[in-house]
Amino acid sequence: MSHHTTTQRNTAAIPFDAPKNGWQPLGVNEVALDGGLAGDLQELNTNVMIAHCDSWLEREGWLPNFDAAVAGGLPDERRGREFSDSEIYKLLEAMAWEFGRSHDERLRARFEAVVARVAAAQEADGYLNTMFGRPGQAERWSDLEWGHELYCAGHLMQAAVACGRTMGVDHPLVAVATRVANLVCTEFGQDARGGVGGHPEIEMALVEFSRLTGDSRYLAQARLFVERRGRGVLAEIEFGADYFQDDVPVREADSLRGHAVRAVYLASGAVDLAVEDGDEGLFEAVQHQTLSALAKRTYITGGMGSRQWGEAFGLDFELPPDGAYSETCAGVGSMMLNQRLLMASGDVRHADAVERVFYNVVATSPAADGHGFFYSNTLHQRELGTEVPADKVSPRAAGSLRAPWFAVSCCPSNVARTLASLGAYVASKSGHALQLQQYVNGRISTEVPGVGSVSLRVDTAYPHDGEIVVTVLDAPGAEWTLSMRVPQWATGALLDSGDGPSPVGPGYVHVTKAFTTGDTVQLSLPMRARWTWSDERIDATRGQVAVERGPVVWCLESVDLGSSVNLVAVDTSVPPGDRDGRVSVTAAVEEPPASDWPYASGRTERGAPSAQRVEVPLQPYHSWGNRGATTMRVWMPELGSASGE
Ligand SMILES: [Zn+2]
Repeated sequence: MSHHTTTQRNTAAIPFDAPKNGWQPLGVNEVALDGGLAGDLQELNTNVMIAHCDSWLEREGWLPNFDAAVAGGLPDERRGREFSDSEIYKLLEAMAWEFGRSHDERLRARFEAVVARVAAAQEADGYLNTMFGRPGQAERWSDLEWGHELYCAGHLMQAAVACGRTMGVDHPLVAVATRVANLVCTEFGQDARGGVGGHPEIEMALVEFSRLTGDSRYLAQARLFVERRGRGVLAEIEFGADYFQDDVPVREADSLRGHAVRAVYLASGAVDLAVEDGDEGLFEAVQHQTLSALAKRTYITGGMGSRQWGEAFGLDFELPPDGAYSETCAGVGSMMLNQRLLMASGDVRHADAVERVFYNVVATSPAADGHGFFYSNTLHQRELGTEVPADKVSPRAAGSLRAPWFAVSCCPSNVARTLASLGAYVASKSGHALQLQQYVNGRISTEVPGVGSVSLRVDTAYPHDGEIVVTVLDAPGAEWTLSMRVPQWATGALLDSGDGPSPVGPGYVHVTKAFTTGDTVQLSLPMRARWTWSDERIDATRGQVAVERGPVVWCLESVDLGSSVNLVAVDTSVPPGDRDGRVSVTAAVEEPPASDWPYASGRTERGAPSAQRVEVPLQPYHSWGNRGATTMRVWMPELGSASGE
């Protein structure tokens, strides 16, 4: 929290607010994406993914659960897991941000129809959950470890925040969420029962809901939940107390740990709380945990969670590519967490983290046609896997081919709400300043505090191409600062603000002047394929190399090879090929000699010096698995590395 400029509280359509004295994200209605990787994904969300989620929620009965609640059909007619209500709320949130952006009236009509069915199921005292409390069901709040009631309530509040900010605070959904929030405060307040939800989520929802409504009671409840946690308040489970971050209090922990999605959601809520309370100690603790996790517990893709068991963070440098869980939702959570930390601290590392995890985890999840999703995101697919039927629910996160829907289907709707609110990640503002955080082709129009209305066009084919041209469409003539992020990987970047190109290093570059219509600023980022090696403490990738191009991680797929990806060893003495963004490596592809025991007293080397070298094409990791069953790997053995060359 290092900024000193004071700005007005942002009332725009933003997924989360930010410190009064920090950077403010722009509203989803202030940033218009136009094509490119990010813009195309958002358009796919608009045209396909939102409706896809909607149709599966109907056909799986998760939305009809609310109708059954009204008709007295529960628990007999209930379908789905204990957290299925939250999927309807995440869809509503996605629809609300989407409406705030597009003002599509057909979408609005569908939104209202779903809200009416949800609202009808709310009980007289405000309770709203289809899983608990009726005859034949478990009692309310009787299973805080696994019941997900507070988690569902949190997602309902987040949907109401989206709705309140895009359709108005008088909307009935805000009233529904207010009754739920009031009940939570009554049941879990200072003098009521103790306890926290087994899956964090309600913490950030309560803070945001207090910002929306102006009611500090919700903020106080978030504070109670954050401070209570970490003291063994939840019952023992097989995964251990660290699974739901109940092992160490939030402000005493050293790193993110346990179930990855739970960890990043809790951290996001703690940042929101710290920002609202001006609690420097809490903020610094969570920022330290996040930076530590980025330094030691994060995949090259930005993915988090290296253990299948418990869908959890591993220990420092425990990052096996083939064991990677890297759940899509943990990627979404990392975006939320790092964006919050970025707005409050101005630390460019968080913007770099958002970029990495967006292009390599969140963008990887949806299929090219928008009708399938990855749940986990392995970095090494050893099996071809079998085609997943387009009309069947997948039992869970198989990790081989994208599935249309899952028995635990948290990821698709999480991707949908993130893509609908993507504009909020693109730029930020503060007194007399606008910061470009992520480069997307499109337009940005906002009120810059102390300056007035500013409108910009950004022309770029990023991340395919590294040229970014910002043209001022409208500016009031006063002096202000345009800041642009130079990613950490971009060595040799050039900035031209009208006086010719000059070299700029990673971090933010600033152009301060009284901009007038037609002024341009051009940033040139060196977009060429490059080798990347891992820290030697990451045992699982020692002796291997990966290829990155800009913020995009590349991978090898067997569909391009005609044989297993495990036969390839790359020659790093030849730079990666890069012809207009088509990337390749020079490699030996050969079957090692058969052996009945895979250990020996001498070192084995990959690729004899005489081995024939071939050029092997790579694919952007985010697009892998779109051409049928395939094996895949990001980290590739280095030719002759065993000899220490
Ligand atoms: Zn998920």
